[in-house]
Amino acid sequence: MNSPWVTASALSTLLFSSVAASAVLPKVQTDNQWFSNAQQTVTNKTKQVNKSKAKNVILFVGDGMGVSTLTAARILDGQMKGNSGEEGYLSFEMFPYSAQVKTYNVDAQTPDSAGTMTAMMSGVKTDIGVLGVSEKAERGNCNSVAGNELVTALELAEIKGLATGVVSTARITHATPAAAYAKSADRNWEDVSDMPEEAVTQGCEDIASQLINFEKNLEARFPGVDVDGIEVAMGGGRRHFLPKDEAANSADAASSVEGDRTDGRNLVTEWQTQYPEGQYVMDQAGFDALDASSTSKVFGLFNESHMQYEADRANDIAGEPSLTQITTKAIDVLDNNDKGFMLVVESGRVDHGHHAGSAFNALTDTVEFAKAIQAAVDNTDPEETLILVTADHSHVFTIAGYPKRGNPILGKVVAVGETEPTLASDDMPYTTLGYTNGRGYRNLGDETNADATYNDDPVVGRQDLSQVDTQSSGYHQEALIPTSSETHAGEDVALHASGPGAHLSQGVIEQSVIFHIINKSLGLMANN
Ligand SMILES: [Zn+2]
Repeated sequence: MNSPWVTASALSTLLFSSVAASAVLPKVQTDNQWFSNAQQTVTNKTKQVNKSKAKNVILFVGDGMGVSTLTAARILDGQMKGNSGEEGYLSFEMFPYSAQVKTYNVDAQTPDSAGTMTAMMSGVKTDIGVLGVSEKAERGNCNSVAGNELVTALELAEIKGLATGVVSTARITHATPAAAYAKSADRNWEDVSDMPEEAVTQGCEDIASQLINFEKNLEARFPGVDVDGIEVAMGGGRRHFLPKDEAANSADAASSVEGDRTDGRNLVTEWQTQYPEGQYVMDQAGFDALDASSTSKVFGLFNESHMQYEADRANDIAGEPSLTQITTKAIDVLDNNDKGFMLVVESGRVDHGHHAGSAFNALTDTVEFAKAIQAAVDNTDPEETLILVTADHSHVFTIAGYPKRGNPILGKVVAVGETEPTLASDDMPYTTLGYTNGRGYRNLGDETNADATYNDDPVVGRQDLSQVDTQSSGYHQEALIPTSSETHAGEDVALHASGPGAHLSQGVIEQSVIFHIINKSLGLMANN
């Protein structure tokens, strides 16, 4: 016990426990910018003051925006600004709180948007493919819906007298936005022509019709309650609202007959009759002409199907607004209500870019989503607005190899100290980004619409990329396993939060907790 070694060790322990770290750490460490920046981050955390009551809540959902998508989009965003990229942050990654969210559905290890968004909107995790109903409902069985309908945060906000809005770059009847307002045994029942005859006979209502009848249906579900309906609904999906009749086509029509509805109903005119003070818009010019301060209700259907990818937006027939423009306008209309508002914003096409195997489209839509979130930060008071940013699920999208710092994220792997691509064991170069499954390699040049991949059969396995520009917009990454469409992935997603109630977003949580964070912050139920 009296050996010199033990004595020295004891002395060293004494020194480190009693002397400030700054006195013992070398200057090479304490003067280092990584060190001081990280230290400042922790200091800032100690100054945070937590409030729980919010006036407004905005829930941003990046469909399919898993953690690898965030990392790659952050790097692409930085590189588009001339930086290395890795050191940057997407707008919402600067929010003070975050959590890790478990996404599985009650019956599925890897989930879909219908079950996941139902969990976020209702506090109840449910089965894959069903909307706004519990796991007791059976997918595709209309009769199983009755008695299993869930009430959503958007409906509770509406009952509380808040202004409400749902916007998406996907069809507004697609699973994620629909989970805010619809109850359906099948996410695919977007209009009556998508439903089996039996479901129609049994009295189930298609999703588009439920959006138009939101006010009426909510009042029927809660006798004595008087609501004024959704103030803002904007996205794609015009085909589900129009009758299958060429005469109903809009100037933006891509098909010879735009509408799909086989019941003869025109839900756009039904909405206009119901809300004569409301504004219906279907293109950029109509959108730009909206005066938010004097507009009480907006219904925007900017595309026959999904809206364009952001990188492909200029190719829209009649023109359509960006998600940033839509989000800003939605807030401007909703904040006319002094009681506050609840807004759901979906970036729907991050998911579609990945399904098509195009990192370019998935990432450029993620970058646009981050801009839309920054616009929300800039147009709201951080003291009164809770902003939540999350994803419904991830994708089988990877960032691989050992590329050097600042290597183009869409490029081939070039190792530290090298200028030529690293070769794999098959003597061919490979890209940093890749997919485990999907339609695989495409070299579509300057194409900006990822969906062009569906014109051809899957091409999976290794390709010789030595002469291929993998940074072009039309390049699709290699995939290992051939599938008709790249699939979702089962790992957790992130939740970022800012504003009153943000501190409730911590730890590893079930997706259903997100409803309760919104509920707690807005006080949606009388007993909280
Ligand atoms: Zn998907």
